[in-house]
Amino acid sequence: MRVLVISDIHANYTALEAVLKDAGEVDETWCLGDLVGYGPDPNAVVEEVRAMKNLTCLLGNHDVAAIGRIPLETFNGEARRALEYHEKVLSAENMEYLRSLPQNLKVREGVSLVHGSPRDSVWEYILNTLSARLNFDYFTTPWCLVGHTHLQCMFRLNEKTNRVTRDPIVPGEILHLNPKLILNPGSVGQPRDRDPRAAYALYDTEAKTWEPRRVPYNIAEVQKRIRDAKLPEKQAVRLAEGW
Ligand code: ZN
Repeated sequence: MRVLVISDIHANYTALEAVLKDAGEVDETWCLGDLVGYGPDPNAVVEEVRAMKNLTCLLGNHDVAAIGRIPLETFNGEARRALEYHEKVLSAENMEYLRSLPQNLKVREGVSLVHGSPRDSVWEYILNTLSARLNFDYFTTPWCLVGHTHLQCMFRLNEKTNRVTRDPIVPGEILHLNPKLILNPGSVGQPRDRDPRAAYALYDTEAKTWEPRRVPYNIAEVQKRIRDAKLPEKQAVRLAEGW
C-alpha cells in the first residue's frame, strides 16, 4: 500500500495542492497534524483534508489552540495573531471536524503516528539526537512518524550500542527502513530547514520504504494572501526563506 504522509500544512492551500499533485495516486493518507495556524487558508485546507479518502489525521498544537482546548496566550504574538484570525474565519463545520480529531499517538499498519513525540503527543519537539533518544522508549513499533518541528529528517537508534544518530536523507531518494527509527516527513506549508519547497513523504507498507520528497509551489501567491489577510509579515517572508 502506498501511503502519503503529510504534516504541518499550516493553512497553506497552494503548498498542499502542489504536494497532492506531485504524490499522485495513493491508497491512504496519514496527516500528522497542524492543518491550521500561520497561513491564510484555514478553511480551504481543512476542507481538502476532510475530503480525503482513507485518511488518518491527528491534531497538532495549533489545531488544539484553534478549537479552544488551550489558551491562545500559549503562543507567541505572531503565531497567536494567525490563530485569532483562524478562530474567526473557520466555518462551524471545519471547527467541528478539527474537534473530532484525536490528539494521542495512533498505530496504523504497524507504524506509530504522532504530531509531537511519543511521550508528549502534541507539544514536544524532536529536534536532535537527545530528544530522539528519550523518545525511543515510548513506542513499540519499528518506526514512529512525527511532525511538529517542520524538519524533514530521520533519527536511528542502534539497538546494539544504544546510540542515536541523525541519518542524512536526500529528497527523492528511496530509503529501505530497518528498526528502530523516528521519521519526520517535514512540513507541507512552512518548511524550516532553509529549503522553501513543500515537504512530504511516501511510505510503502509492503516494501517498507520511505521516500522523502520536496516540491516547489507558488510562494508569491501565498504571500499575497497572507498580506491581504493582514497576517504578520514574518509569516510571508519566512515562506520564501524556508525557516
Ligand atoms: Zn507546526
